Amino acid sequence: MQKFDVVVIGAGGAGMMCAIHAGRRGRKVALVDHATVIGRKILISGGGRCNFTNLYAGPDNYVSSNPHFAKSALSRFSPGDFIEMVENHQIAYHEKKLGQLFCDGSAQQIVDLLVHESEKAGVAFFKGRVVKEVVKDDGFLIHTNSETFSCQSLVIATGGLSIPQIGATGFGYSIAQQFDIKVVETAPALDGFNFGSADLSKFKELTGVSVDSIVSVKKVAFRENILFTHTGLSGPASLQASLYWKKGDPIAINIAPDIDPVAYFNERFADGSNKEVKNILAEIIPRRLAEILCQMENIKGNISELSEVKMRSLTSKLEDWQITPTGTVGYRKAEVTRGGIDTNALSSTTMEVKKVPGLYFIGEVVDVTGQLGGYNFQWAWASGHAAGLAV
Ligand SMILES: Cc1cc2nc3c(=O)[nH]c(=O)nc-3n(C[C@H](O)[C@H](O)[C@H](O)COP(=O)(O)OP(=O)(O)OC[C@H]3O[C@@H](n4cnc5c(N)ncnc54)[C@H](O)[C@@H]3O)c2cc1C
Repeated sequence: MQKFDVVVIGAGGAGMMCAIHAGRRGRKVALVDHATVIGRKILISGGGRCNFTNLYAGPDNYVSSNPHFAKSALSRFSPGDFIEMVENHQIAYHEKKLGQLFCDGSAQQIVDLLVHESEKAGVAFFKGRVVKEVVKDDGFLIHTNSETFSCQSLVIATGGLSIPQIGATGFGYSIAQQFDIKVVETAPALDGFNFGSADLSKFKELTGVSVDSIVSVKKVAFRENILFTHTGLSGPASLQASLYWKKGDPIAINIAPDIDPVAYFNERFADGSNKEVKNILAEIIPRRLAEILCQMENIKGNISELSEVKMRSLTSKLEDWQITPTGTVGYRKAEVTRGGIDTNALSSTTMEVKKVPGLYFIGEVVDVTGQLGGYNFQWAWASGHAAGLAV
């Protein structure tokens, strides 16, 4: 039997951050993971450069059944706190856009930082351990494929269901079920949209076309690129929208966000240039998209031949193209899992389960999901820090 004060299951960003802060407080900490490579999600994040935080991260950047839950943890561990750790490790970084901070070099530097700080805080790593059973006694017993751990505080930091290919599991949700803790329905998010066959038959020639757009779902709107794919839509603006999307919701796309399309066409009527409509469109959107739009609207010929009705229909496609996706691509591609451990069950200060003293949930397994752009790591750091000070 291996005795520890704290066992953290899941050595991702949240788990390591919790272990570091608990270890610094003198707690004897074990980090247990079924993977043999530490921090694989970090390694693949941000295209291999890890978008490790966002300068503007705040509660409004997160989706949760309780939008206030994340406030306490986020306010006690800010983007500046993580930046300080990055700078202390001489990791060069840059702001790519919109407050998103990336390593200049590689995401491996962030993993190395976390492993180094964990080891400095005396944390013991147990890799390749498959947890067979968790038993509650005075504290907790964790039976694995190779040894049994006992601890007073047990932290579940096993993340969500996204990218099962690199070891994501529903372990955290099973533990919630074991202790009768509610789980808010989970869904893949920060994910591409799939379209039905009728829409795809129109768009398939657009695969690979990217355009600056505003994508809206209900009242939430994001302006960044969209990318047409062979199954639907991807690109940052659609990934962002997927966080707010539920099955049956239409999405609205404005593919010419800097232009008032009606005014634009009226000006082109007035200037008498009498060009082909698709060429006029190609001045403001990618040519392939202009051609497909004209095909869809059955518009041929010059602007002088464009009826008022067709012009209205075309301009409404430009600024408010409504499509109802059939779904998202799914967990094998989604960056995160929306939903998770119901925040009503947890203390927002410590992440401890109110009705099971000593049991904690942190990171992505909790029903707090960030937008694209470094917010999810900031939640992993902040929730890990909050629990690390309490376990
Ligand atoms: C492709 C991709 C790119 C991303 N890029 C970014 C980005 O640039 N910026 C950003 O903010 N967010 C990004 N994210 C999201 C971010 O990676 C996650 O939100 C974050 O890693 C969650 O941290 P976590 O510690 O809660 O969980 P994870 O990082 O998923 O860690 C969970 C750990 O638990 C272990 N585990 C799982 N099940 C078990 C089990 N049964 N037994 C033992 N161990 C188990 C896993 O092996 C893993 O080590 C990206 C996600 C993906 C998929």
